[in-house]
Amino acid sequence: MSDEDEIIEQTTFVADGVEYNVGDIIPIRVTPNGTYTNEEVVRVYCQVCGAEYVGPIREAGGFLGGHECYHRWEMLLATLPEA
Ligand SMILES: [Zn+2]
Repeated sequence: MSDEDEIIEQTTFVADGVEYNVGDIIPIRVTPNGTYTNEEVVRVYCQVCGAEYVGPIREAGGFLGGHECYHRWEMLLATLPEA
């Protein structure tokens, strides 16, 4: 154990047992919500809390939208008077 491995640098995404790097194209990805084809693996991060995500663009959008929604809720709560 060392202090050096505290920062996680995730750069790969695994779909159907195949490992993809950021920038790779996933030829086909079948999910319960639909089938995705020719989708790029991207790396995104939240500008508010610094969390990062590596994966297909569809999920990256969900990550960004989820964080945006959550942090907006946090800020709204901060403006409300104490109950
Ligand atoms: Zn965030």
